[in-house]
Amino acid sequence: MQTLEIQKVHKSFGSLKVLEDVSLTIEKGKFAAIVGPSGCGKSTLLRMVAGLERPDEGTVQADGKTIDHPSPRRMMIFQEHALYPWLTVGENVEMGLELAGISKEERRNRAQKVLKTVGLEGFYHYYPSQLSGGMRQRVSIARALVMDPDVLLLDEPYGALDAMTRLTMQNELLKIWEGSGKTMLLITHDIDEALYLADRIFVMSSRPGKLVRTIDLDLPRPRSRHGQRIGELRQ
Ligand code: ADP
Ligand code: MG
Repeated sequence: MQTLEIQKVHKSFGSLKVLEDVSLTIEKGKFAAIVGPSGCGKSTLLRMVAGLERPDEGTVQADGKTIDHPSPRRMMIFQEHALYPWLTVGENVEMGLELAGISKEERRNRAQKVLKTVGLEGFYHYYPSQLSGGMRQRVSIARALVMDPDVLLLDEPYGALDAMTRLTMQNELLKIWEGSGKTMLLITHDIDEALYLADRIFVMSSRPGKLVRTIDLDLPRPRSRHGQRIGELRQ
């Protein structure tokens, strides 16, 4: 399991300054959320934790080691589920295991197990085009979970879903996380979602993205959907 530590990170794309002096820590096994307006650098920050992007200045570390490449220990889930349409659900889920050299039989066992976890038992041979948006996002979660990562990085995973599906999937995500010991880092512009799910919320300002507030939510779960601390965020 990994403690994530971002220290004094700056990032620009050409003359566009995207992140300015961002520092934050997420302890192992916690559920953290980053909220902030569109374009403030949330996805850029998450990609750094995934090892897909480097800071210009500052450090991004997992357990004291600089993150400088992607790792199956830290799996990212995108809003656009990015499934391969020409592969079945099972093949999509197994792809990372195949690259890791795991035998066909074991891949299949693990994929079936994780598909059950996300409520898609029996959909192994389906193609993504035969599934609803919510189901496709469940496949994408299964594809990350099958690698048994320490950290799940979720970039607005439910942004494209209808409100009812979103609520269902938020609860499913809590079930997957609770007791797993996994560290969750969720990006969202939905403040209610952050209040419902997270132990700690990092609030970023608009570009260049800076961390303006950290809110610890020591509220028990299940929580009221009308986040009790919403007043604090709106101050
Ligand atoms: P957010 O996820 O908060 O909406 P992003 O991190 O995606 O913000 O992007 C922040 C800003 O950086 C945006 O203006 C975006 O266009 C720009 N940006 C992101 N990635 C790149 C890139 N690879 N090259 C150039 N500009 C980028
Ligand atoms: Mg984004």
